[in-house]
Amino acid sequence: MIAQEEKEKRQKTGKQGMLENVMRQFNHASDSIGLNPDIRKILEITNNELVVHFPVKMDDGNVEVFTGYRVQHNNALGPYKGGLRYHPTVDIDAARALAMWMTWKTSLAGLPFGGAKGGIQIDPAKYSAAELERITRRFTYALGDNIGPELDIPAPDVNTNAQTMAWILDTYMSTKSPNERSSNLHVVTGKPVGAGGSEGRDRATGYGVYLCIKFWAAHNNIDLKGRKFIVQGFGNVGYWASRFLEEEGALLIAVQDASGSIINRKGIPVDELFTYMAGNKNAVAGFPRADVLRNEEFFGLDCDICIPAALGNQITDKNADAIKALLIAEGANGPTDVQAEKILLEKGVAIIPDILCNSGGVIGSYFEWLQNRNGEIWQLEEVMEKLQKKLRESFSRVMRVTDDKNTDMRTAAFSIAIERLEQAYMQRGIFP
Ligand code: GLU
Repeated sequence: MIAQEEKEKRQKTGKQGMLENVMRQFNHASDSIGLNPDIRKILEITNNELVVHFPVKMDDGNVEVFTGYRVQHNNALGPYKGGLRYHPTVDIDAARALAMWMTWKTSLAGLPFGGAKGGIQIDPAKYSAAELERITRRFTYALGDNIGPELDIPAPDVNTNAQTMAWILDTYMSTKSPNERSSNLHVVTGKPVGAGGSEGRDRATGYGVYLCIKFWAAHNNIDLKGRKFIVQGFGNVGYWASRFLEEEGALLIAVQDASGSIINRKGIPVDELFTYMAGNKNAVAGFPRADVLRNEEFFGLDCDICIPAALGNQITDKNADAIKALLIAEGANGPTDVQAEKILLEKGVAIIPDILCNSGGVIGSYFEWLQNRNGEIWQLEEVMEKLQKKLRESFSRVMRVTDDKNTDMRTAAFSIAIERLEQAYMQRGIFP
């Protein structure tokens, strides 16, 4: 049995409980749609799980052995798809949970993809850029042909970025015969634009979070101008969502990350904070145009919109009661646990679930994959327009089911995603 302290620590970092959380969400939605019991057996377990240990030479000449994961949950609708995260909380259960969420996310978005997730159990802040490059390349080599442009397509996630994807692509291509090399560009998405990436992929997740908030506001006759929002995690997702909301006239009043929490009720200028962080090891602490806030006070702040855009299990039964926001827009994967969700729904707080709210990222990835596969290059406006169209469709579908079935948005989103998979299995049957 895990000691209470360890359990709480794990919950705080989102390490423990994510798998339990996604399973409870899945079971609840499956019950509500009366999912075929045979299909349930297939979907409640992952297809493939890969754990690799690989050695890397450090800058000081010593060798360290790292542990990497890739879990492929389901590929009934298309190749496995999902990010790679570099974080101390990455383990087999975290990868399983996150892979499952990817399956529901791609299904809900109507993409021809399945779900996967993986990463390395490290704190990347402890390594130099050169070490991270060697770690990434050696991890890619260890994954070998378990990933591939028509098999399993990684993308950025927590603590990985376009640079990481460029290293993966280069390593993967370098191990192929010359004739195959350039046809493998779509083995990863989220690449730098100069290395085969797509315009707009950098902002796609944050833009999607913003769009979902905008659609929700319109649905509820709420004007976003002057509305106050708080953001946990100011990485790629938190930053871009904040930027688009700020442009809309909303006010960022508090930010929390691993370094601490900051507050300014008159508004935190988004780009100033971003520039400050670039010179401050990507940390918000010490930002001169805001005051220090105690971490425990963050989620209970008086605001309209709360955007958890960091790790899983951040909103729990410990802090859900204190939440004053009208809306929680889940930029992260699995930020709200099942108990917290129950408390929030009873209080009348709306939650735009992760598999819808942050699906702009994987939709952007799909566009990148399509362009690489077809030898096309789309302009930024075209990408953003297509993204908007797709997300609007998903959002409307989720809202329709939410209203028709008088349920919450997560159950509605899961139901749509699971039904699409059920239909695919029912039509195809099971081999042999
Ligand atoms: N890591 C992102 C997610 O959780 C993006 C995945 C992708 O683009 O494949 O949705």
